[in-house]
Parts: sequence; structure tokens; C-alpha cells
Amino acid sequence: MNCNEAGALVAAHADDELGGFRRHSIEKHLRSCAGCATKHQGVLALRARLRAEVPYFRAPPALHTRVRAMLADTHAVAPARPRLEPNRWRWLTGGALAGCTATVLAWVVGTAVIDWRANEDVAVEAVATHVRATLNNHLIEVASSDQHTVKPWLSARLDYSPPVQDLADEGFVLAGGRLDTLEKRPVATLVYRYRQHTIDVFVRPEAAHAPSSLRTVRGFNVAYATGAGMDWLAVSDVSADVLSTFVQRLARAAASQ
Ligand SMILES: [Zn+2]
Repeated sequence: MNCNEAGALVAAHADDELGGFRRHSIEKHLRSCAGCATKHQGVLALRARLRAEVPYFRAPPALHTRVRAMLADTHAVAPARPRLEPNRWRWLTGGALAGCTATVLAWVVGTAVIDWRANEDVAVEAVATHVRATLNNHLIEVASSDQHTVKPWLSARLDYSPPVQDLADEGFVLAGGRLDTLEKRPVATLVYRYRQHTIDVFVRPEAAHAPSSLRTVRGFNVAYATGAGMDWLAVSDVSADVLSTFVQRLARAAASQ
């Protein structure tokens, strides 16, 4: 085995994935080649650091489902792993393909985790913002049930103009709005009353990642919708189905204007 062949197999060997002749060959090569041995040690050290330092999260059911769905897609496009043949070039190709599949897998899982974390964080922050405004008695800065009063007030304080809908016919009465902060940026916040409940709706230009549609954080429901080039993020203690329907209604009404 030469250094090129060994280099292609170092990661698989570090993961203990090689068997039989390939394992024997690379072990022999590592004993006699300082360069490849260093590379191998590097992979082992990196793996140990990842295990020790990367925080561990138990995946919630939504993330489970998402990773499974993405994996199903990946399996459909990933080449099948070739059967082992008594031909070392085939073995090498097999190792490279296995490596590609592992890379795709890592990317898929990584992307899903990052998206999930981003959604998780914005939902948690939205609930914290809603709770803070409620406790400080600071829910409303412009008190009006007239969308033509609330909208210009917000537009004058932001670099975008949030659509403001009146859905009083459906039981959601516009109470006013305020300027708040979400992910370090000023955000238009519409306040609606539904029976005894208060609903905060954060409206901001559509973000790159598609948020998950519904979450519960500290007992509050958080529902998302997109429409009219905006993200609509509603937080309330009203039931999940009511909140979800409402926020989708808002986004649709804005989009159809
Ligand atoms: Zn070598």
C-alpha cells in the first residue's frame, strides 16, 4: 500500500470500518510511514475533541422526522456501495464512495441540526420577548384597532413596511402595535386580542431558512407562516390550532392584497 492508497483509507480506519486485508495493509503502512501515521493520529484526535467538546442535544421528534426524510432522499441519489471484489482498485473506489456517502450524511445531518437550532432559538426568543412585554406592561406603543394608524406608525420606525390586517370579523381584534427586537433587529409587532387572550405577531422580511410551522415553548404556542414576502411569527397562550389558523390567515390576507 502506498501513501495515496493509505490516505484515502485513513478516516475509515480511524472509524474502525476496514476489515481483513485492507485493515492489515493500512496498519502495516502506518507502522512504517510517519506522514500517514501523523494523519491518522490527527483524525483520532479530532474525533476525540468532537466527542468531548461538541454539545450533545437529544433530538426532538420533529428533528428525527426531518433527518429521516432527508436521508430517504439521499439514499435515492447516493450510489450503492459496491460489493467487495478481490481487486484492490475496486476496494479503493469503494472506500472513496463510502467516504462520499459519509460526507453527504454528515452534511445532511449538520444542515438539519443547524436549521432546527435556528428555529428553536427564534421561537424561544419570540416567547421571551412576548413575556417581557407582558410583564412590563409594554405590549402596545400605538393603541389602535385601525390598520391605517398602526401600519404608518410602524413603517416610520422600520426599514420595511409591515402589512397590517384587521380580522375582527373572525374574532381577532387588532389592539395596536409596538416596535420590538428579534434576533438583534427591530421587528414590527402587532398585538391582537382573541377572547381573553393576547396574541403577539412579529412581522419581518422573509428569512432564508423556512421555519417549522408550530412549536410550544414554556407553555406558549408559537406559529409561523410566510406570505407577502414576510415571515409571520405569532406567540400566544391561545390553543395551537387557533393560533396556527390565525397566523396563516394573516399571511394569506396580506399576500392577496
Ligand atoms: Zn504513507
